[in-house]
Amino acid sequence: MPQSSVKSPATTVNNEEKSSSPRTNDAIVALRSVTKTYSGGSKALVDLNLEVQRGDFLFITGPSGSGKSTLLKLLYGEEVATEGSVLVDGFDVSGLRGDRLSELRRRIGIVFQDYKLIPRRTVAENVAFVLWAQGFDRKEIERRLPPALKMVGLPHKANSFPEELSGGEQQRVSIARAIVNTPPILLADEPTGNLDADNSWQVIKILKKLNAIGITVIVTTHDEALIRQSNHAVVQLCNGRLYGSKRYNQPNSN
Ligand code: ADP
Repeated sequence: MPQSSVKSPATTVNNEEKSSSPRTNDAIVALRSVTKTYSGGSKALVDLNLEVQRGDFLFITGPSGSGKSTLLKLLYGEEVATEGSVLVDGFDVSGLRGDRLSELRRRIGIVFQDYKLIPRRTVAENVAFVLWAQGFDRKEIERRLPPALKMVGLPHKANSFPEELSGGEQQRVSIARAIVNTPPILLADEPTGNLDADNSWQVIKILKKLNAIGITVIVTTHDEALIRQSNHAVVQLCNGRLYGSKRYNQPNSN
């Protein structure tokens, strides 16, 4: 049965088991009765309700075409909901344009399956570019760059070019780029889709570290093994509808 409302994954576990931590009701993401119909008539999301609490780590899974990317696109304002409301970190995303939309996007780090690095720029330049585009001065860029590269284990690759890196390393650069301006929320759309199991797990471990320092992390994936190993909450999309949350318990997975 599809769930019409999936609340905090931190507090709705297996639909029966409740977390011992108190409910804070500090939603950083709230989708209410969201439907997304593309112009060709394709219904990507249907009457979807989802709340993610600040500091959560949530997996969104489901088969190809189930609406995972569309859901993330609604969160960062790449697409607009046909019906319903999308709230992210206090912003009503559906109505955002221009400067307000840019302001929201500065508060969201995004990681894609295909890394999207600039080929003729070094690792350091790829990461710094975001800060430069957002108007940070040189001193601040130089201050922020080393910890971001350290977080993803790549300080020694600062002067390498993307083509000199493995796929896993390129994805880690794209994570550094996504978090270098310290956003409160990180969205990752199939971040391990092009990686083998070892590199996938490295990427997830970095996302877990970022979550541990307070960043809300939302990851789409269809990799069930990775979800199981990660021990975080998961919701499932199927034909644009959201099904309940559950958590796999693998206490020794870290
Ligand atoms: P997933 O990420 O789970 O693979 P998507 O969100 O990409 O799913 O797609 C959900 C549905 O919406 C699919 O049927 C897809 O064909 C359709 N869709 C996605 N993007 C567009 C678009 N830009 N125009 C029309 N239909 C789209």
